Amino acid sequence: MKYSKQETDQFVEANVLNFQLNGTGWHQLIRDMLYEFCLAGWNLNNKVGGKEKFGGLRCYSLSEDDNLNNEIKKIITKYEALSVKTCEICGSAGKLRVVNGWDVTLCINHYIEDIDVIYIKDDTVFLNDHSLFKLSEIKKVEMSNSFEGMRVCLSGDEKHISLNAGNPNYYLLLRSIPLHLFSEEYRHKIRLIFENLKDCEICGYKALWEEHCLRCNDEPWRDSLLDDYEDKTEYVKQSQMLLRMDQDSYEEVANFCDRSFEKTENYRILFNDDEFEEFEKDW
Ligand SMILES: [Zn+2]
Ligand SMILES: [Zn+2]
Repeated sequence: MKYSKQETDQFVEANVLNFQLNGTGWHQLIRDMLYEFCLAGWNLNNKVGGKEKFGGLRCYSLSEDDNLNNEIKKIITKYEALSVKTCEICGSAGKLRVVNGWDVTLCINHYIEDIDVIYIKDDTVFLNDHSLFKLSEIKKVEMSNSFEGMRVCLSGDEKHISLNAGNPNYYLLLRSIPLHLFSEEYRHKIRLIFENLKDCEICGYKALWEEHCLRCNDEPWRDSLLDDYEDKTEYVKQSQMLLRMDQDSYEEVANFCDRSFEKTENYRILFNDDEFEEFEKDW
């Protein structure tokens, strides 16, 4: 390398600040990238900068030397690819996700901060760390959108609280609320659901109710799927691989914090690592 350690350190520390980011999680990544710029022979008088875009690192700095630029482009590509696996906030292993319509790369801990998770502790229901109500304060519960939404009415209060199946632990809450607080129609249905849940072969939880799984949303095998799949095994296998890919992070969040359903005992993963790699490549 043609520069001293002091020169490179100064260059790296000064230029890491030229990146417009949502946090400091990528700073080490950018330091490593800038260090590789130095190794490649970058002129330290030229500034390097960039930003976060669509959840990934972008760096547009180039020199006047075409040969050097070929090297620089390779370095940038390498770090852009690493950025979408690194949490923008803290630098832990992350994943590209959509939050409020924006693409961001976050670890599960930082992603979960943007999701309203229901927790039940003793008699109290929380949304993340703020308490919503006590189960004993509920006057009645109105269901909407079949079972996927509920409006909780509290006694001595005009306040309504709406929750839906997008809130992790929603079904845990649904089965924790005393049945007499629902209308007669739903009392019966809710009892039926929780008494008749079947094993979902796709996600491995006892969460299958009629035509879909309340946890992974997949449908159980039926013969009409023969139009699209060779057989049941092929269908379950492909659905399991899609779940592993987990593009909407739904499965990761459910694994992390949803306690609504029990794991099934005989769950079998039908694919191996090589098959998954192939599947992901073709996707
Ligand atoms: Zn993080
Ligand atoms: Zn499932």
